[in-house]
Amino acid sequence: MRSPLRLAAVAASITLVAAGCGGGSGEAETHAPATVTVVQTETVAQTETVAPGPSEHVADAGDLVVQYVPVTTPELQFYADYLASSGLLQQLADGINSSIALPRDVIVSVEETGSPSPFYLPAASAIVVPPEWLAFADQLVTGSELVGTPEEVEALVVASTIFVFLHELGHALVDQLDLPVTGKEEDAVDQLATAILAEAGTELAGQVALSGALFFGLVAANREEFAAADFWDEHSLNEQRFYNIICWVYGSDPALFADEAAQAGLGEDRLVRCQDEYAQVMGAWETLLGPYLTA
Ligand SMILES: [Zn+2]
Repeated sequence: MRSPLRLAAVAASITLVAAGCGGGSGEAETHAPATVTVVQTETVAQTETVAPGPSEHVADAGDLVVQYVPVTTPELQFYADYLASSGLLQQLADGINSSIALPRDVIVSVEETGSPSPFYLPAASAIVVPPEWLAFADQLVTGSELVGTPEEVEALVVASTIFVFLHELGHALVDQLDLPVTGKEEDAVDQLATAILAEAGTELAGQVALSGALFFGLVAANREEFAAADFWDEHSLNEQRFYNIICWVYGSDPALFADEAAQAGLGEDRLVRCQDEYAQVMGAWETLLGPYLTA
């Protein structure tokens, strides 16, 4: 049985309507935007004993504020336009804003950086999502032969973007709410991203998390050999992120995601632990975020 976690209010349902494809050609007019809707749920918000009441402890003094900085590289215009016109980040921000109290505004900035990696910048209280990210993801997925149709490419790119955004949101929450973290923060915020999606309670949202896993699997598959940096990097290996996320999604609903876990080749030794692992992950994040949940 799904635990009555109010974190579910962050993302109760996610609906992806992918039409057309982000094919990287720059032909924006041929691509219909994907629409992602993050909807509040009231049904799981009324829980029993769990976290302390939020609003009497923590004032909601801030929001995620999405901004779009004009790009200067012509090849990135399509991707910048896609992020803006799809409303993807705005809808995710809306869902978070109505669910989590923040002490101050956190900027979500779509801006060119010269690097494909989204990141959270504590000094600026900003989550930066570069259009280079979307270009990179598009190129990686298109070249993977894992997905066939343009619509499948777009769906995987959009789902991966949702996952990495929620990952960066995790970094922002750790900083803004001064949350304690033991172990690797990178793993902890992968756990949060997975839990937000898994707790949405829909197969589609779970699939979005699995798409995030698949993306890390693709990155891993494109690495030719390990370098020392792979081991001292603050992130776990992409292979590990792939299997971890699949384990947690599976653990959130073993019956629903048994096929995906089997297809991924997750071994029985780990599979039998995933339900407890997921419950531990959820419990930790619920405890941490409980005072700040407003929905
Ligand atoms: Zn990170």
